[in-house]
Amino acid sequence: MEKVIDLRSDTVTQPTPEMRTAMSLAEVGDDVYGEDPTVNRLQQLAAEKMGKEAGLLVTSGTMGNLIATLVHCQRGDEAIMGDKSHTFLFEVGGISALGGVFPHTLPNQPDGTLELDDIRDAVRAKDVHHPTSRLLILENTHNRCGGVVLTAEYTRQAGELAHEMGMKFHLDGARIFNAAVATGCTPAELAAPADSVTFCLSKGLCAPVGSVLCGSAEFIEKARRLRKMLGGGMRQAGVLAAAGIIAIEDIAPKLEADHRRAARLAEGIRQIPGLYLPFGQPASNMVFVGLDSETGLTAAELAARLKQEGLRVGVVAPDRFRLVFHYWISDEDVDRVLDGFRRVLTAA
Ligand SMILES: *Cc1c(COP(=O)(O)O)cnc(C)c1O
Repeated sequence: MEKVIDLRSDTVTQPTPEMRTAMSLAEVGDDVYGEDPTVNRLQQLAAEKMGKEAGLLVTSGTMGNLIATLVHCQRGDEAIMGDKSHTFLFEVGGISALGGVFPHTLPNQPDGTLELDDIRDAVRAKDVHHPTSRLLILENTHNRCGGVVLTAEYTRQAGELAHEMGMKFHLDGARIFNAAVATGCTPAELAAPADSVTFCLSKGLCAPVGSVLCGSAEFIEKARRLRKMLGGGMRQAGVLAAAGIIAIEDIAPKLEADHRRAARLAEGIRQIPGLYLPFGQPASNMVFVGLDSETGLTAAELAARLKQEGLRVGVVAPDRFRLVFHYWISDEDVDRVLDGFRRVLTAA
């Protein structure tokens, strides 16, 4: 049986053998007491990488973004974010349901940014009728905009504007290590203007579970209480943190290979009649592929045929796929995927 090539997401990544060994050997303690040495080591390492004072291991990126919003905002405050942002689209409305925070969306530009003028205009004047604009949330890399990358310069300008307008700035850096590779900046440089930043250990970094929320020591102290309130106080979580440490130290430096393979797949896709690249050449580890209507197929139908060949791709619209590269995808796999697309399209 040929290996299944799963490109639906980088969340499907399994832990590496080194991770499994480190997990089994991890020194652990009760992390709610702050006594898990491996969790403490991960949090310190994460904070250093993000250039912040402190870090907090949370169960997921969703929890990290939610806690950050709850720390920065009071009930009835509003948070400004992109209309294609993960927090707006894919986090179950948690900031409203659990925090009473009002999302004020602005159009995400194709490059993942929000226009600075749009942000300036969105901030509410002090008026008894208005909610208080308290928080700006940006995303890097930007998932729904095609894995595009915000520059350090743009992030600096947006952060400066947010602070000038009396807001806090949270960066959803679920894939900030990918952004770092793509820009040649360090994650700390990309996160420097942000008051808080979340990144995922469990995506392209291969760890089985977890994200880390980073910020000032004071911010993290509040975040820790909220994590407990949300039921996210974990005990011997060092078994998870051990994988997270390897994710940061060993897997993050290898992300460049994922971007290279994504670029090569995109070049191959261009040569296949019936397929195109709606976002052009990929900026990071995601390739969005469009399906021409002349093929007479929907993306779901094509994906079902690919699945029979052991190729799993994400379907994100009736005529669009998302293919996400990660540690477990090799150069040969890129060729197999291109062959698979060619075959199922000619068979159609
Ligand atoms: C995956 C992701 C998150 C959080 O995801 P979890 O599945 O909750 O860990 C947040 N933001 C972005 C941009 C993401 O891609």
